Amino acid sequence: LPPPLPGAAPLRPDPLSLPTAPAPAARPFSSAGGEPEAGGPGRATAMLRHLLLKLRATGPVTVAEYMREALTNPGQGYYTRRGGVGESGDFVTSPEISQVFGELIGIWYISEWIAMGKPKVFQLVELGPGRGTLTDDILRVFSQLASLLSKCDVSIHLVEVSPKLSEIQALMLTGGKVQSNPEDQSAYMKGISKTGIPIFWYRDIQDVPPGYSFYLAHEFFDALPIHKFQRTEKGWREVLVDIDPEVPDQLRFVLSPSSTPATENFIQPEETRDHVEVSPEAGVIIQRLACRIEKDGGAALVADYGHDGTKTDTFRGFRNHKLHHVLRAPGTADLTADVDFSYLRKMTQGRTATLGPIKQREFLKNMGIDLRLQVLLQNSCDTATQEQLRHSYDMLMNPKKMGDCFSFFALLPHHRLVHSDKKQKPDSKSPLPPVAGFGELLLK
Ligand code: SAH
Repeated sequence: LPPPLPGAAPLRPDPLSLPTAPAPAARPFSSAGGEPEAGGPGRATAMLRHLLLKLRATGPVTVAEYMREALTNPGQGYYTRRGGVGESGDFVTSPEISQVFGELIGIWYISEWIAMGKPKVFQLVELGPGRGTLTDDILRVFSQLASLLSKCDVSIHLVEVSPKLSEIQALMLTGGKVQSNPEDQSAYMKGISKTGIPIFWYRDIQDVPPGYSFYLAHEFFDALPIHKFQRTEKGWREVLVDIDPEVPDQLRFVLSPSSTPATENFIQPEETRDHVEVSPEAGVIIQRLACRIEKDGGAALVADYGHDGTKTDTFRGFRNHKLHHVLRAPGTADLTADVDFSYLRKMTQGRTATLGPIKQREFLKNMGIDLRLQVLLQNSCDTATQEQLRHSYDMLMNPKKMGDCFSFFALLPHHRLVHSDKKQKPDSKSPLPPVAGFGELLLK
């Protein structure tokens, strides 16, 4: 917790943030804002009461600290309590829209597994699996390609902080047949998938055993806490969350009166923006993935909405598929910020190669979504199903919906892209196969 900062100045509205009209179902792309909310004066949520006590005792907190509390506090955090992914929740994600999405991602892993010489063992590690739909669709692909994978020892490892969501995942993937706190493992739960593959649950990536692994993070990094900074005449100041002195039980943004350790450490000297968001937690996790891939092999696929170090104020809240003020009724709404892929790339520290970010519609097109849609349309006889298939394709691919705002980004061992002895003997080896999605899909 930062030291109390009495007399912090109110935050001026950020002149750079320009809201865009949101698309209806996907979590869209406009700036913070939204409707005022029940849970105002007199109706403080348990989380708000907890934060008010904390702020009164120790003064303003960073946005990162606020976001961490609101999302993953063990008692009252949004993901801990409900984690509303899906149509009946607060936001819908691509795997929830269409099975084709997860199937194509499953094919991406198979294609990389082949390109890397079909290692005998691999772990699929998913960070923030939500309802477990994406893993379920991937496992269906693995089961359809069982003859190809028959000699490979595959296991699934899910990193999930929310007990509520891990229950939903267990039901979806194993039919609920799981063992809690297995003694022989670092996992907090284990089970066997409907297709016979072992599944383990962890709270932290560091608990996942080492070994050749494919990593997956879909709409995970955007949920990690961010620090926010504002350029002022006196230099960079960190945005903090404080109690509004004018309105009882209401929170407001303020600026730190002087620079903080975070302003010193996270702002690059060459920064040209006036407002910057940084997630050091995202940086630490990507660093861990890069170290693990460098040491044990594998690949990571990250899909999220984001930018390449250009956007400013993207912090926003979602509740019931609508924008929700980020400081109202904390714990009852999803809080999120665009992923800064340039920061993730920097934090790999050159341990792995990186590809992307590439737009979702380009990635899925390269993965053969058009052909897959044609096959599904031909196999379905009723017009309602065909209509549904076309509609979900449009949601995923339309540049105005999810096609342009979501991007794919990958970490791969350097030798996957460049022969290690290329400099000495440039013509000695056959060319390396392109990485599917970022280039052509070749399944040989
Ligand atoms: N990947 C899913 C869900 C995205 S929602 C989908 O696309 O549908 C974000 C997920 O990350 C939830 O499962 C949430 O509980 C989990 N999560 C959030 N913060 C986390 C953290 N710090 N560590 C592990 N999981 C986290």
